[in-house]
Amino acid sequence: MLLAAVATREGVAKRQSAIVDGALPSDIAATLSSTDAAFTESIQAALADTLPPPEPSDWVTVEVQRGQTLSQIFEAHGLGFSEAIAVTKLSPESARLKNLRAGDKLQLRKTPESRLAELRFELDGKATLHVRRDTENQLEAVTTAIEYERRQAQAMGIIENSLFLDGQRAGLSNRLLMQLAEIFGYDIDFALDLRVGDRFAVIYEELYRDDEKLRDGDIIAAEFVNRGRSFRAVRYIDQSGNTAYYTPEGDSIRKAFLRTPVDFARISSHFNLRRRHPILNTIRAHKGVDYAASAGTPIRATADGKVEFIGVKGGYGRVVILKHGSQYTTLYAHMSRFRSGLRAGLTVRQGQVIGYVGASGLATAPHLHYEFRVNGVHKDPVTVPLPRANPLPRSVLAQWKLESAPILARLDAMAEQHLARVQATATTATP
Ligand SMILES: [Zn+2]
Repeated sequence: MLLAAVATREGVAKRQSAIVDGALPSDIAATLSSTDAAFTESIQAALADTLPPPEPSDWVTVEVQRGQTLSQIFEAHGLGFSEAIAVTKLSPESARLKNLRAGDKLQLRKTPESRLAELRFELDGKATLHVRRDTENQLEAVTTAIEYERRQAQAMGIIENSLFLDGQRAGLSNRLLMQLAEIFGYDIDFALDLRVGDRFAVIYEELYRDDEKLRDGDIIAAEFVNRGRSFRAVRYIDQSGNTAYYTPEGDSIRKAFLRTPVDFARISSHFNLRRRHPILNTIRAHKGVDYAASAGTPIRATADGKVEFIGVKGGYGRVVILKHGSQYTTLYAHMSRFRSGLRAGLTVRQGQVIGYVGASGLATAPHLHYEFRVNGVHKDPVTVPLPRANPLPRSVLAQWKLESAPILARLDAMAEQHLARVQATATTATP
């Protein structure tokens, strides 16, 4: 399907003007035809017309190296520097070729005269830029929507080492493994909770064009059995095309809160209502959790919410308090600095950076002091049961359940297949 019209039509325009202007002036034509040279030329031209045009070269796929420009790629393939510049000027989409990134792929084909015959470039996974030489020898650029054929594929495996090693062995790409870890990341800590014998089953999309697999699409449904406990997730696509995953019952697989507001940090002090304060040396409740992290480590909002307070507050130092709905508040203290532009009343999204670890206020070393309050009462952020994010709207639930039934049946079949395999192994193992 054509998205944008052909960007340049100079070729056609030139041909039209040639017809309007007519052929060569009759006096010059008469002079030429009177010579033998002109006669020979016209014979050659007539012969050339009947000969098949020379074959253009085959497609060459070029993977862009770091820092490489289109001109450099053209020159490396025997194409002119000026042609590269001309290509980037054909359309707004072709201007994208001025900012090639490492790993971008483009396909080239040359004319027998070593000029550009065609170029293909995938713009964003949804559209392809197609540059070609038209019949008038002019370059034109067309942008077309990529129409994939979506095929379903499945993979299953058992954990023996890690999600990544065993996932790869089961044939899952890194992209799908990242997605799998993200989907179940609220329920399973893949670094700490995995056990040998855990199993996973994934049903996913593969994108094809002209019978050629281009890449993996999204996970459609997946199951992860962790220490005997099964977690299942099924995809839902809303009207705007946004993808989210829900349990088969329609509950969100996301929790409303992230468990920890900093990545790669360790707990240096737990929630403890009778703790001796390291600086004040008195028994003072520690109504939060401390995460040791180097100064400047980003701190994330653990849930969607509103900034209730941002500023300096006694021993807390630079502190942000977020309000989440009517019941929950979270507090982030000792920051070195706030995210610029953050102010009271602003809305923040879960995972958004709100500030950076520091040692402002009463702190002996850089760390984040994090508090979690439910209806004004301090809870241990490490153990407090976290509410799930919003479930699937009731208006779409029945239809979605109907549509996801065959996919769930397939997960059931994969579970049975797994069980049969395990039993077969057990049988052959017994003497
Ligand atoms: Zn603390």
